[in-house]
Amino acid sequence: MNIAILGAGIAGLSSAITFKKAGFDVEVYERHAGPCEIVAGIVCWPNAAFVLH
Ligand SMILES: Cc1cc2nc3c(=O)[nH]c(=O)nc-3n(C[C@H](O)[C@H](O)[C@H](O)COP(=O)(O)OP(=O)(O)OC[C@H]3O[C@@H](n4cnc5c(N)ncnc54)[C@H](O)[C@@H]3O)c2cc1C
Repeated sequence: MNIAILGAGIAGLSSAITFKKAGFDVEVYERHAGPCEIVAGIVCWPNAAFVLH
């Protein structure tokens, strides 16, 4: 089965990785050509830090 994902944010990318690992063919479509600057800091909340760790 082929899966198309619209948006390469954290939800789209993590979904794509999960579907790929499960054996699906995945295409991610992102409207921006590359990463965009938003001039903001990053806060890594405890649950996210737990997953990254
Ligand atoms: C200024 C700011 C600061 C933030 N700081 C933090 C922080 O420090 N820590 C934290 O945990 N969270 C933070 N957040 C929240 C966090 O960014 C979001 O919760 C998270 O990015 C949501 O991920 P998402 O993949 O659902 O959506 P998004 O990250 O919004 O990704 C959606 C993607 O889909 C693309 N897209 C949309 N429509 C289409 C289309 N029709 N076709 C193709 N592509 C499309 C968009 O270009 C975008 O790249 C912040 C948010 C903002 C706005």
